[in-house]
Amino acid sequence: MKNIDIIIIGAGIAGITTAYYLQKNFPKLKYKILESRKDLGGTWDQMTFPGVRSDTDMYSYGFTFNPWKGPIIGQGADIKKYLVDTAELFGIKKHIQFNTKVNSLSWSENRWKTITELDQFSSQHVICCTGSRDYKSPNFPKYDGEHKYQGKIVHTQDWGTQDFKDKHVAIVGSGCTAVTMTPAIVEKAKSVTLIQRSPAWIVNVDGQEKSTRLFKTFQTLIDYYHSRLFKKSYKKKILSTYRSYYKDDNIPSYNFWDQRPACSLNFDYFNSVELDKVSVEHQGISNWEKTGLKLNNGKIIHSDLTIMATGLNAQLLGGIDIFVDEKKINLNDTSWYRGMMFSGIPNLFAHTGYINFSWTARCEIVSQRICRTLQYMNKNNLISCTPKYLGKKSKPAIEANYVLRSINKFPNRTYKFNNANYIYEYISFKWARINDGALNFK
Ligand SMILES: Cc1cc2nc3c(=O)[nH]c(=O)nc-3n(C[C@H](O)[C@H](O)[C@H](O)COP(=O)(O)OP(=O)(O)OC[C@H]3O[C@@H](n4cnc5c(N)ncnc54)[C@H](O)[C@@H]3O)c2cc1C
Repeated sequence: MKNIDIIIIGAGIAGITTAYYLQKNFPKLKYKILESRKDLGGTWDQMTFPGVRSDTDMYSYGFTFNPWKGPIIGQGADIKKYLVDTAELFGIKKHIQFNTKVNSLSWSENRWKTITELDQFSSQHVICCTGSRDYKSPNFPKYDGEHKYQGKIVHTQDWGTQDFKDKHVAIVGSGCTAVTMTPAIVEKAKSVTLIQRSPAWIVNVDGQEKSTRLFKTFQTLIDYYHSRLFKKSYKKKILSTYRSYYKDDNIPSYNFWDQRPACSLNFDYFNSVELDKVSVEHQGISNWEKTGLKLNNGKIIHSDLTIMATGLNAQLLGGIDIFVDEKKINLNDTSWYRGMMFSGIPNLFAHTGYINFSWTARCEIVSQRICRTLQYMNKNNLISCTPKYLGKKSKPAIEANYVLRSINKFPNRTYKFNNANYIYEYISFKWARINDGALNFK
């Protein structure tokens, strides 16, 4: 068993941010990052589908401690490089142990035991930077007759080296991924059919825009609250801005920001769907046929390659089995404190993101709050802190489809957590007392 002060699990944006703030606040601390992949970057290492890029502006998606210097929207490979460069710049990379999947965490006698396929570690704290997604199983809807289909099926989460040049391609899904990848696929494919059960909200980003982090923060949040408080007028505004796209049969049935809107860059998506070789079907899918997918209206979409841009399945804490004093924890029986700790689980911190703002921005304020918590514990000679359980309340913290699909794996209640208001959390995470009445210290 190896002794370490703190174990971090995951080497994506959250892992890098956590390591940066730990180093800054505790220069003598011994920490290790355990990462199951063979490289760092998390999402940006795994997602290699054509056109992959950020939806959030990079002014707020970049780190404050190493601001992004590229264009407003980052391409996937450039974001990956930026993460590698940041980890190298701050001496974080040497703390990462790659190819190391954590299977379970076990708390007893005031220490965590982290069990991987090869090693075991003992530490006082564990920080889970394992993202929000099930890395093994994306959302992959199944339809009858899949065995009959003679083309290829690929999910965007497992793209590999898929070839689509001169092929007839069908893309299933209407979310951010489908919108992002469509222009890149259209460029080389012979034909593209977009199968979208229902239309989605899409807005354009001007790739030449120059801005600042502060401006983007306020602009994004003002826009978000405008769309939530004045739903009708906001919808009207979007419909008139993109008059030629949102025709009668193409208007989303839900309100703007009920789901995260997708982004077109320099009108690339809007221009793509105008091309003769592209068609859009707003229909559900009935089953697979030999040559493609059959829609509910009986039409068959012939394709050589079907791309499932059908999203992800949410997962907290990387699917790791957690035991506290030998009792297995079911997250659905816990309360979620500030979106960073779980009731009944001592000294375990975790990151999650915003529904309407940059994930990195939240990682930074959570990392700083974790450091303040550790400083408070050190100063007061405390060995553990555990959030209180507040009792069941059924409304989920996040009502996105990918969360609702996995809702029974989420805490049944959240408190002191506002996943739509970065400015509120920025202030409260910085100024609220660490001993805020919600934590039991020992
Ligand atoms: C295509 C795409 C575009 C996106 N664009 C944006 C955007 O523009 N803005 C935004 O805010 N968000 C965006 N997101 C969300 C994105 O996931 C986050 O922004 C961010 O990258 C998550 O970082 P993370 O470090 O928390 O998690 P991840 O990037 O998921 O990294 C988690 C890491 O933990 C490792 N891990 C997991 N379980 C274990 C285990 N048991 N043992 C060891 N290692 C483990 C994984 O291998 C992975 O490397 C996007 C997501 C996708 C898929």
